[in-house]
Amino acid sequence: MKIKSLALLTVLIWAASSSRSYAAHQLRIVATIPELVDITQRIGADLVKVDGLARGTEDIHQVVMKPSFVTKLNKADAVVYLGLSVEHAFLPGLLDVARNPKMRQDPVSQGCIGEGCIDCSEGLAVMEKPTSLSRAEGEIHPQGNPHYNADPEDGVLIAKNIAAGLSRVDLEHAADYQKNLKAYLSELEPKIAEWKRMTAPLKGLKAVSFHKDVCYLGRFLGVDFVDTLELKPGVAPTPTHLEALVKEMKEHNVKLIVREQQYDAKVCEWLAEKTGAKIAVIGTMANALPGTETFEKFSERNIKAILEAVGEHGS
Ligand SMILES: [Zn+2]
Repeated sequence: MKIKSLALLTVLIWAASSSRSYAAHQLRIVATIPELVDITQRIGADLVKVDGLARGTEDIHQVVMKPSFVTKLNKADAVVYLGLSVEHAFLPGLLDVARNPKMRQDPVSQGCIGEGCIDCSEGLAVMEKPTSLSRAEGEIHPQGNPHYNADPEDGVLIAKNIAAGLSRVDLEHAADYQKNLKAYLSELEPKIAEWKRMTAPLKGLKAVSFHKDVCYLGRFLGVDFVDTLELKPGVAPTPTHLEALVKEMKEHNVKLIVREQQYDAKVCEWLAEKTGAKIAVIGTMANALPGTETFEKFSERNIKAILEAVGEHGS
């Protein structure tokens, strides 16, 4: 009996110590939004532990900081983010408070500086870059349009940037991250080709969205987003603007309204009634809509919502 329990104890100690040392090798990564959590998990696999910040249902421009975010960021080896200032509501403040030497806030640009900063927008061909320093076009897209996560093809860039970032932070496992990247892309790229085929009938379609967050998605779909319900990015629709929008939609035969799930359904319904356009509800992040916890599911659901709204079924 005594020998038996001693053996058991030895096994327990061995298990505890081996799981401790295994955990010690895992990188702690914070990702700002759900699809970045998903892709980081795919690329990092067992080598990383990923924590997310914003919930998918939130407006990324208005994510409220929580004390738990500071704790997560304080202990992290790296932070994965979309960049282009889209996380302006929470990331600069957190970097400032968390005081993590691996990722600090640049006092001038407010950006992330340090080896733990993994900016997924690196190498992106930024759309809607402001031509002047004037803030007249709204203050929330100061570096150009930051909503590239809505474009399925930009998932490839995101995954590559995450793999490069993890390899930089954890050079020892660079080969593993590259292998996982290859496996992920071998799954994502055929899906992208399939979505391209499904959405071919949308080419040339005119549409409006609530917020100016669909230019990259529009490019992927071949859909021309001619205007927004918002007056400017971050500025709520006014009655005058809405009346002008009705006129514009009728003139240009706009038959699709894309409503991002966090925005006002009633005003979209009003506009649909006035113009005869159909409404497609999309998510601006993974997990915004049920069953969209991964980048792939998020991309597919948005595409299907648009196809269904315009009476195409992707066949
Ligand atoms: Zn925006």
